[in-house]
Amino acid sequence: MGLVSLGCPKALVDSERIITKLRADGYQMSPDYAGADVVLVNTCGFLDSAKEESLEAIGEAIAENGRVVVTGCMGNEAEVIRQRFPDVLAITGPQQYEEVVSAVHDAAPPAASPYIDLVPEAGLKLTPRHYSYLKISEGCNHRCSFCIIPSIRGDLASRRPDAVLREAEKLVEAGTRELLVISQDTSAYGVDIRHQPRIWKGEEVRAHMTDLARELGKLGAWVRLHYVYPYPHVDQVIPLMAEGLVLPYLDIPFQHASPKVLRSMKRPANEAKVLERLKSWRSIVPEIAVRSSFVVGFPGETEEDFQYLLNWLEEAQLDRVGAFKFEPVQGAAANALPDHVPDEVKQERYERVMALSARISAEKLRAKVGRTLDVLIDSVDTESGGATGRSKADAPEIDGEAHLRDAAHVSPGDIVTVRIEDSDEHDLYGVPA
Ligand code: SF4
Repeated sequence: MGLVSLGCPKALVDSERIITKLRADGYQMSPDYAGADVVLVNTCGFLDSAKEESLEAIGEAIAENGRVVVTGCMGNEAEVIRQRFPDVLAITGPQQYEEVVSAVHDAAPPAASPYIDLVPEAGLKLTPRHYSYLKISEGCNHRCSFCIIPSIRGDLASRRPDAVLREAEKLVEAGTRELLVISQDTSAYGVDIRHQPRIWKGEEVRAHMTDLARELGKLGAWVRLHYVYPYPHVDQVIPLMAEGLVLPYLDIPFQHASPKVLRSMKRPANEAKVLERLKSWRSIVPEIAVRSSFVVGFPGETEEDFQYLLNWLEEAQLDRVGAFKFEPVQGAAANALPDHVPDEVKQERYERVMALSARISAEKLRAKVGRTLDVLIDSVDTESGGATGRSKADAPEIDGEAHLRDAAHVSPGDIVTVRIEDSDEHDLYGVPA
């Protein structure tokens, strides 16, 4: 079978689970359309642009192969897909693992001998073996006005801490050097199950971000926390960074800084005194890297609100910043808000925020020149003898990279001490020390 996986890291984890199951059922993966008996397209329906990308991917799979099963977030809009592609064999929604697996079974009955392919201990992975996404919960209890995820994925549903830890342990045993903890709202982990403790290695571990982060840290891999809202208890994770159990890294999707815009976005934890908190976190863990994403051109955002955001960013000195222009996603409450911002103003604000964050990023990276940092190797270029990896401050796919020279002896998954020789707006350049 073939697979096209679109969307966020969470969708990628879903794809991994589906493939693990199908491999166990005897299916083999095809690297191209031609060799596949059926193509599974895992779609993203978060933004209208993502939906369009998903529809294009379905169209391509139909044209190239013809036998297509669709799953993922866009599966909730089966009529839209059917209208455009009446030949799609089956459509299932997100997290419908059983349904999608049985749809693939119907479309291409499994091979007679399901024992040919052994599933590796930690499941067949789409991400490189040395890093893995670890999903700790589904859904979200918030109702941010620009977001339709709760209506697609439902309210927060946390996994048991012992189940998460068991999966993480297997991943580490199978070669994972970096665990990327993901969910819609990592700091809210366990709220829905009242932080109920479970026994893990003879000790009680609560379904709580702090407990989970500490236990994950003991497994010996890098632990990186994504989608962390700055609730007060996030302060308890900072000492774990100081102890070296968790990477000194926080991905906090602030989305804006202006209190007025945050209220209108209905953002969680927006009352937190974030600048003070950042200062106090840095006093405990000076090297902590904070990444965030922001929406510009939200309905009602004035030039004054936007200037507030720029001033805030100047003060916050975040390490990595992603920005998005507001898009009215079908079904989102924010669409009904008055005073939508014209496209050209959104574009102009987007460019201003990106220019500012590029300058801050360049300054912060320049300060690392001359230092030695641990770098996890992602890929090696045998021809040039170079290698590419990431420091503790950089998550895969979304942050910067470290480019190494004279690194012919390293392999993907190695953690190498690197002397940093140069930097630019996003990346570092160095040599193994
Ligand atoms: S916190 Fe807000 S943006 Fe994030 S998933 Fe929940 S509702 Fe959506």
